[in-house]
Amino acid sequence: MLSDLVIENVAVITMDSEQRTVRDATIVVESGVVIYVGPAADLPEGVSERLGQMPRLPGRGRIAIPGLVNAHTHAAMALFRGYADDLMLQEWLTTKIFPIEAGLTPDDVYWGTLLACAEMIKSGTTCFADMYFFMDEAARAVEESGIRASLSVGMGSMAENAGGSGGPGRPDGFGAALARGSDFCERWNGAAGGRITTMLGPHAPYTCSLPFLSATAGRAGELGVGVHIHISETFREADEMRSAYGISPVEYVESSGLLDLPVLAAHCVAVSDGDIDILARHGVRVAHNPGSNMKLASGAAPVQKMLSAGVAVGLGTDGAASNNNLDMVEEMRLAGLLHKATLLDPTAVPARVCLEMATRGGAACLGLDDDIGSIEIGKRADIVLLDFAAPHLSPAGIADLASHIVYSACGADVSAVLVDGRVLMEDRRLTTLDESAIMAEAEARALRLAGRVDGNRTQ
Ligand SMILES: [Zn+2]
Repeated sequence: MLSDLVIENVAVITMDSEQRTVRDATIVVESGVVIYVGPAADLPEGVSERLGQMPRLPGRGRIAIPGLVNAHTHAAMALFRGYADDLMLQEWLTTKIFPIEAGLTPDDVYWGTLLACAEMIKSGTTCFADMYFFMDEAARAVEESGIRASLSVGMGSMAENAGGSGGPGRPDGFGAALARGSDFCERWNGAAGGRITTMLGPHAPYTCSLPFLSATAGRAGELGVGVHIHISETFREADEMRSAYGISPVEYVESSGLLDLPVLAAHCVAVSDGDIDILARHGVRVAHNPGSNMKLASGAAPVQKMLSAGVAVGLGTDGAASNNNLDMVEEMRLAGLLHKATLLDPTAVPARVCLEMATRGGAACLGLDDDIGSIEIGKRADIVLLDFAAPHLSPAGIADLASHIVYSACGADVSAVLVDGRVLMEDRRLTTLDESAIMAEAEARALRLAGRVDGNRTQ
């Protein structure tokens, strides 16, 4: 399924190490890998000779960017979109999210993940990091959709096991949880032609004991996989950890030895300068979720400070129950605006940085920065084309293209999406997924799940 393809006369924001933007470029993809990006005039002879036989994707009037990486989500929660809004976090979890999750079947997770994949592809996301349950079904959805993903089974060791934003709702003990997570990694790591990678997913410091986190660290080392965990999502979590143990959630996780592994830490909202030093020292990658953090009134993660300290930061949407969409173009804009407003500084987290977090930063979060995150020779052809022929993106000639994408565009401006050079969408039509069938299934399943909780709810 790896493809050859040429895109001509396209404007490219490469996000390569030299931050090259080329206003009239040719991109050549061979066997799913970028073999040339730059002006047509500079095409090497060996490459230009082969172009004649290759299929074309129109580039004129379009902007190419690296596929967006959603560094933290719970894809199947797309089924709960709009089910529980404008509630306090604990009420949101205990009266709405946990009860509805309790009814989920493996098939629900499959259809919920397909719905999320359709939405993500349509808004320019080519890769996502997921943590949930029934992950074999999520992996099947990823395999079928053609998208790329880093998947983990949410695991917890504590009886109450109450996790925010898609926590593991089925505590089944220390050993069993770790076995479920590890077995999943063994089944799926490197599957779907390498599009699926895996991590272990201990849910959060407040749902995982220290011995459990230490055991997880040992197992991740044996499996050669990273770890995906929520850390310090709220100030309440940080306060409760300090009351119980006298340390911060970051220090708690550090004391387990887990941070010696490649760790993707979601949120990191309530972190001190000392915590940021720990994150930087251990090379922890942080998934920043501005939309979810705002909606649940969790606060604003100190992204500027983390970036200054050298922490790799990616952007995530979190689950659709707390966002409520999976549109990474919108998430970039939210990131840009949130920090300007909270720091009272219009220069904070500029557009380039937002785009960087959503591409290269996300790739680093998932340990995939050698393969994706920029459009450059040797990397996988995960490429998104935005159609700039729209009133809200005009005029484009005087604008910085990155600023235009972050501050003026939206996910619906994405017109074509490639993963491994394979066209997953062209002219906004999905090639791998039946959008209306997925929406109909999702509707029926959401009604059944909500009805279980709320009685005879029909709308
Ligand atoms: Zn989450």
